[in-house]
Amino acid sequence: ESQFRPLIDAMTPFLERDYRAGPLVGYDLDRNDGELRDVVCPWDHQRTVGQVRWTSADETSRAIDVAWKAFPDWNDTPVEQRAAILERFADLMEKHTPELMALCCMEGGKLLPDGVAEVREAVDFCRYYAARARDIFEAPTVLPGPTGESNELIMQGKGVFATISPWNFPIAIFCGQTVAAAVTGNTVLAKPAEQTSLVAHRVVELLHEAGMPRGVVQLLPGDGATVGAVLSSDRRITGIAFTGSTGTAQLINRSLAARDNAPLPTLVAETGGLNAMIVDSTALPEQVVKDVVVSSYQSAGQRCSALRVLYVQEDIAERVIDTLKGAMAELNIGDPTKLATDVGPVIDDEARQGLQAHIDRLKGEGRLIAETAIDPAIAANGTFIAPTAFRIDGIDALETEQFGPILHVATFRAADIDAVIDTINERGYGLTFGVHSRNETFANRVARRIRVGNVYVNRNIIGAVVGVQPFGGQGFSGTGPKAGGPHYLLRFANEKTRTINTAALGG
Ligand code: NAD
Repeated sequence: ESQFRPLIDAMTPFLERDYRAGPLVGYDLDRNDGELRDVVCPWDHQRTVGQVRWTSADETSRAIDVAWKAFPDWNDTPVEQRAAILERFADLMEKHTPELMALCCMEGGKLLPDGVAEVREAVDFCRYYAARARDIFEAPTVLPGPTGESNELIMQGKGVFATISPWNFPIAIFCGQTVAAAVTGNTVLAKPAEQTSLVAHRVVELLHEAGMPRGVVQLLPGDGATVGAVLSSDRRITGIAFTGSTGTAQLINRSLAARDNAPLPTLVAETGGLNAMIVDSTALPEQVVKDVVVSSYQSAGQRCSALRVLYVQEDIAERVIDTLKGAMAELNIGDPTKLATDVGPVIDDEARQGLQAHIDRLKGEGRLIAETAIDPAIAANGTFIAPTAFRIDGIDALETEQFGPILHVATFRAADIDAVIDTINERGYGLTFGVHSRNETFANRVARRIRVGNVYVNRNIIGAVVGVQPFGGQGFSGTGPKAGGPHYLLRFANEKTRTINTAALGG
């Protein structure tokens, strides 16, 4: 409480503001004919928080013209200048934390601690990528060569990048992708998720205030089918950094590949997961449940890393399930501005309906283990989904990721552990995974054999700290490299060698 009180007090005036946003582009917006959309609050009776002017297809093409023309000079700008902009931007975001938190809460339904973490992560991305860019871009790497010749490896930008972001980390992921593309010398067209355009608008205003030229990073709020589709089909787009669902990444991949006579693109995709945890009979049920509740229900299960399938060895399944029921009964669902709230709303009514259909189907099959009670008065205020747990046979029973507070529990016999690992691997998602066991040999073996990007042992599977646990998956979960890791910027860079016949110089 005391930790958050000053931030809450500073945030309150922003909760009442009426926000206006639209594209932020490097040219005069006289012709914007994009639709005007209301932004509604998911937990407060669909109250209007503000309005956003979406970007039309025609405006998107004009923004690509600007980015294309801005690229040569930006790519030739010393990395020190580019990195310094990121650091000023990080300072500005820190200064404006209360306002950014308020926007995350009003349009995204984020709890206060999640809003603070969101700004913190964005700031960390900026500082980490600024430092990495200096390391990678500042001085050419000298390569060995024959006498009379000098060989160097130089890192530069590739061209025009689009960054397409999801609503669930509307500051952190939006900033991470966008500043990574820009600091490496590319010009950037940033398309935020439809649901979180207001906070993206405020963030890009701060980025421009920090000194980022308006033509280098442009903001294109709008829908995927218009703005996203133009970005992935224009032949001047060199690459796309995308975070969102697996299905959308597949659409973008097809659209990039279908371009006529276009250069081969770079696609950096970070997508969904069907994340599992294996618990053997040596694990401590209380510790397991504590970590499961955080992993499955924090942020209303709307994290790509969230736990979806818990595999418990049958000998301790009953104890784990009993403890889980007790813990679920303790969860508070409601207003995200209240510090006592554990689970806020899901993002919008479409998401709520999709999750509810899944819940109704599993309930109809008699699979319910537990459901947290929700006050009907709170439920009526917004798009809330009560946390649930269901019994299933295994990960194969799930067709897709359910992006909400729903946990599926399966049991296994000790002798079948390899079959469980094979099933998880063959399901093809490869984002996060957890193992709980006090048998170190068992835990290490499972962790080694599972094919995912992030493994967590004897702890929750939520949590990626920039530079500490770089984050990203494989298979249906993404292309890599890991966001917040030492190699991430390399995907945005062109490696160019320079070979000089030194004997001919200065002769
Ligand atoms: P989404 O795929 O619906 O949308 C993501 C973005 O793609 C949005 O900006 C959307 O407008 C855009 N888009 C939609 N159609 C498009 C098209 N045809 N062409 C181009 N762009 C298009 O995802 P979402 O609902 O915003 O986010 C939730 C998903 O994101 C979940 O699947 C979650 O697992 C995933 N996610 C993954 C990570 C990760 O690091 N792996 C992180 C956060 C979220």
